[in-house]
Amino acid sequence: EQREQLWKARKALYPTLYRFDPRKKPINFVDDVVVPADRISELIRYLEEFFAEQRVPVAIFGHIGNGNAHIIPLLDVNNQDDFQKMVQGYHEIHQTVLDRFGGSICGEHGDGRVRAEYVKTMFGPELYGLFVRVKQSFDPTGVFNPGIKISDRPFTDHIDYVRLSKPCATCAKCNAVCPVYDVFQSEDMSSRGWFEIVTDKNYSYLSSKRVVEACLNCKSCRTACPAGVDVSQLILDRRAESPNEMAGVLFRFHAQTARFERFLKFLARYQSIWDQPLIRRLLDRLTKPLMHRLAETARLSPKLVLPRLARRHLRDRYPELIPQAGQEARSQVAYFHGCAANYFDDGVGDAVISVLRKHGVEPDLPTQRCSGTPIETYGHRALAKEGARVNLASMAGYAKVVTGCASCTLMLKDYPILFAGEPEQASAQDLAKRVTHISEFVSQSPVKPAMAGLQSRKCKVAYHSSCHLRAAGVTKEPRAILAGLPGVDYVEMPDADRCAGGAGTYLVKDFDTSQRIVERKRRAVEQSGAEVVATSCPACMIQLRTGLQGAAEVKHVAQLIQEAYEAADRR
Ligand code: SF4
Ligand code: SF4
Repeated sequence: EQREQLWKARKALYPTLYRFDPRKKPINFVDDVVVPADRISELIRYLEEFFAEQRVPVAIFGHIGNGNAHIIPLLDVNNQDDFQKMVQGYHEIHQTVLDRFGGSICGEHGDGRVRAEYVKTMFGPELYGLFVRVKQSFDPTGVFNPGIKISDRPFTDHIDYVRLSKPCATCAKCNAVCPVYDVFQSEDMSSRGWFEIVTDKNYSYLSSKRVVEACLNCKSCRTACPAGVDVSQLILDRRAESPNEMAGVLFRFHAQTARFERFLKFLARYQSIWDQPLIRRLLDRLTKPLMHRLAETARLSPKLVLPRLARRHLRDRYPELIPQAGQEARSQVAYFHGCAANYFDDGVGDAVISVLRKHGVEPDLPTQRCSGTPIETYGHRALAKEGARVNLASMAGYAKVVTGCASCTLMLKDYPILFAGEPEQASAQDLAKRVTHISEFVSQSPVKPAMAGLQSRKCKVAYHSSCHLRAAGVTKEPRAILAGLPGVDYVEMPDADRCAGGAGTYLVKDFDTSQRIVERKRRAVEQSGAEVVATSCPACMIQLRTGLQGAAEVKHVAQLIQEAYEAADRR
């Protein structure tokens, strides 16, 4: 446990430094000194006094056991005063480490450009002369690594002042989790690359459309970025400048709830006819012109496993839970079911209600509109706000707003960003605190209903961690619940925290890329040997059912909890 705490603190170090002061950045210019191990405490005292005198905040960490200190001051190198402090610190600290401590300027990071200026001082003129001659004999024209290690150019010549004026540290941690980069392996199709594109002073939507529209808005980059940069939000800001017209038509129709629901019920009645392979192929062709207006890559692929549409929507099935207009909240708990659980016959909404009831809660299903995620994804921020205002009003007065959908969870928690600086911001902040995913609700509930396994043998279950739920900070609860279910043999699969590529409507917007993304997930599921993949988001369920191609059954965490409770009832 202590080791875990230490690692947690270590991993939080850079994010903390980046967030400490938005004007300053951690700057590595004396970051790798090493002294005899028994003098490390003396070195740390010296450094603390030095930076206190400079009035520069500093983090000192490293490999204390072998005398190696990583020293990371926070500075704005574009500020003249801070620049002078950096140059002064560079010389004074390196010289002190060499003269007073008999140490070295470099413990493990290499001399590179930053320490090249001090290599001669460190090794002395005779040895340095030898280095130069060796380098010259292999590289007489100086084409190998010019300016690196064997060079007397000052380290300040190498500083990229423009880069350091931007919030991005170019560390590429976002690329490592970006599903688009994973598939295309190209900087112009990556989170870090998109940061550069959308913040460029010559940015134009038309010349950047292809790449700006390729982002899934999965938020994995936001979760990973140590500097607190939200590339997905910057992209949404750019999309909001050029909203997609076709999507606007669809979402405005969606906002006319009664008409939209009549249309969905009509589709549901005839789904057994139109959702046949031959007709789906025909539909794919017929809808292409419309789809192209959504995105050049958009299509209704016949391979997309559509969810069964509900003939009776969730709200029709639970009229007793719907408060009448003007009526006060009858319960402390509202269930924000969102669109998918209401319109799909996938059992998720029923499972959430059933689980809440087992915990002694009779939830209200107040009036609600789409949380806004897909609407904002296509640039229609004003329309997203329109629905969000309805939700803010109808969810007021409930102690908890329980969700079953990862995207709704994050969007409701993100309303303060949507309404930043606007009159609704305070109520948005209040709602964000009350939003509780069903897995959090079950974990926190004092009621512990009896549970049992469905079969005599345990079923191997893996968890796909939906990106939006991770971004909302919910990662441990679903796993802990699954591991505690009596009929479940929980396995942590590789890449459980990677995007599966569904991202709500992305599997329509760019079906081919979404299927290339899910391939990695399919391999992970197969490797884990899981019979069931549990997840926390109806949209991920569609993508997993499409992409896993039968490799495992797909269920919502709430459904597995419901099964365990009901199995106990039957005993
Ligand atoms: S956006 Fe964040 S994670 Fe990505 S490169 Fe920049 S600092 Fe690193
Ligand atoms: S939101 Fe997802 S797809 Fe978009 S840049 Fe971030 S990680 Fe990549």
